[in-house]
Amino acid sequence: MNTCKIYLADLVHNYVSKGPHTFPINVGYIASYAKKCYGEKVQIKLFKYPLDLINAIKQDNPHIVGLSNYTWNLDINNKIISWIKSQSRDIVTIYGGPDYPIGREESLRYLMERHELDFYVLNQGETGFVNILERYFSCDSINEMKKEPVENCSFYNENSNEIIISDTYEYIEDLEEIPSPYLSGIMDEFFENNLIPLMETNRGCPYSCTYCAWGRSSKKKVFSFSLERVKEEIEYIAKKIKRTDLLFFGDANFGIFERDVEIAECMRYVKDIYDYPKSIYVAWAKTAPQRTIRMAEILGDIVGIASPFGSFQSMDSTVTKNIKRTNMNTNEFKKIQDYFMEKGISFSSELILGLPGETRETHLNGLKSLFDYNTAAIICYNLRMLGGTELNTDENRRKFDIKTKYRLIDGGFGKYDEIVSIEHEEMVLHTSTMTMEDALYFRPIHFLIQFLWNYKYYGELLTLLKEEGVNPVDFIVKIVDDRNSAPPGIRKIFDNFMHEAHKEWFDTKHDLLEYYSKPENFESLCKGGFGKLNYKYMYTFLLESKKEFDSYLFTTAINMLAENGEINDAKRKQFNNILGFTEKVCIDFTNGFESVATEKVSEYEYDILKWKQETGKRPLSGFRCNGVRLKFTLPEEQIGALKKLYEQCKKEDLNQTLRKMVEYMSERDLFYKVDYA
Ligand code: SF4
Repeated sequence: MNTCKIYLADLVHNYVSKGPHTFPINVGYIASYAKKCYGEKVQIKLFKYPLDLINAIKQDNPHIVGLSNYTWNLDINNKIISWIKSQSRDIVTIYGGPDYPIGREESLRYLMERHELDFYVLNQGETGFVNILERYFSCDSINEMKKEPVENCSFYNENSNEIIISDTYEYIEDLEEIPSPYLSGIMDEFFENNLIPLMETNRGCPYSCTYCAWGRSSKKKVFSFSLERVKEEIEYIAKKIKRTDLLFFGDANFGIFERDVEIAECMRYVKDIYDYPKSIYVAWAKTAPQRTIRMAEILGDIVGIASPFGSFQSMDSTVTKNIKRTNMNTNEFKKIQDYFMEKGISFSSELILGLPGETRETHLNGLKSLFDYNTAAIICYNLRMLGGTELNTDENRRKFDIKTKYRLIDGGFGKYDEIVSIEHEEMVLHTSTMTMEDALYFRPIHFLIQFLWNYKYYGELLTLLKEEGVNPVDFIVKIVDDRNSAPPGIRKIFDNFMHEAHKEWFDTKHDLLEYYSKPENFESLCKGGFGKLNYKYMYTFLLESKKEFDSYLFTTAINMLAENGEINDAKRKQFNNILGFTEKVCIDFTNGFESVATEKVSEYEYDILKWKQETGKRPLSGFRCNGVRLKFTLPEEQIGALKKLYEQCKKEDLNQTLRKMVEYMSERDLFYKVDYA
């Protein structure tokens, strides 16, 4: 029997976006399992980038192309399989991944829109893919392969105009049956570029949030790889790694099992020996807070702030019931946040805007609560309709009166050979409890939370306001509501932000594609003309109008206290001290890179450094002194890293340079180190 040549790809757009992207481990698992089952009968090549796959197909037609399919590569996958079939109708095209509708009607629509797709592998990919291989080896044509259902797969039968889905579904419960793609060397080629290694220690999720496909696709079960194998993989990666300091975990709930403490210990041990990983990304389990504390302490500086801990998505009980979500107890969450704050470990939490039942008021209250709980970073998303989720059915769309619009995925576009591809995301902008006006009202509020609090550009100001009994959300709402009375420069930037925030939406995917495909718009896209608004406007404020913006923020803060009758000279001095500190601590790139390394010294009436070090134990008023001199410096290591990144990301436009840089650096590196002079 002839060898079957297989190309498997987990595609990302790398036309202008340089990542960070992860190893194609998902197709690595499929390749490992297929190799185990079919040995030399299969010849498999893995791909991450569209052009590499296109060139490989041009040079040597494979028998099968399998693509992992999820929200960031739906369009490029569709374009690639259309192009493949235009080259040869005999190449079998296969998708796998969560983006597959759950209803029969929706599935039929989905497959009919993708005539060039032969098979969709459902849920866990390995078994379904190997079942297709078995069919391939026993049939002479694709039509013949489709005569009978294929277990764990779905496909469209053109003759009968129906979808064929196998009645039974078989999970691999013992994940050790899948050989490790790392340890077998299949992933070795990917260490040569700057992809981030991605690992799974387990698969599946025991919960079933309706907006997410994870729990549903694993039937709420969690399957584990052996502890020994996980440890070996971590060490293997650490020995091989060349071009990144990061390690990502794909687990839905890291810390869900007691053995995860041992995995944390292993990472600590490996970091101490190999100086890798310097930072990890994990999605923490919600229901084992004490274990999370133990693990965070073991991991220490390796824990990335981006790893969300205690993500709520909504703090309203009607909403969590609607979305079938179990959240952590808020008292427990607060205790843990306080504990982490004391230890200097920062954790973020997340909220999603637009979930069924959420109102303008409940979302605002949720944001306020997270500030009350001292959450280090509050990450806000708009609800996205994801394929394969319970919420994304005709029935639930009707039930919750969900109305959506489409926008471009940042960096999700490219021209590869003759193929132009543009990715979209479908976002919820209206429900039975939230109007589109409400949804868009939060756009600048979420932006300012990210800018002022998460990135810490005005963290001291918001902390001082908290001490004065003002919730930062009330302050941010005031900043947004009063923007028409802001200085002209600030008003103009806000106006531009609001204009772009409204303009980014399209009624249909078709409208979006048509707009961005126009040569002048596509060219503008490639030059960075469209990008994440939050980053763009963060640097617009900082580079073009920082002084005015500082003044608007601090005046508004003092006015808010004055309106409540709570301002006096001492408080004014505290705000002025914080304003002076804020002006100095942030690295100012307006004159390019060269001038940033100069040391600066400033004198204050309050010991702001000590106040910050004591992390909220005492109010700033308790740190009055006879004058304290603080110096703002950049250590050599930080200068070197910033310089390297600045050169790598340098574009004509400084705003775009900084937007790119910030994707790759910790928010700590945006500021001077502060010490006593
Ligand atoms: S949102 Fe998180 S907890 Fe909920 S089903 Fe998805 S992975 Fe599981």
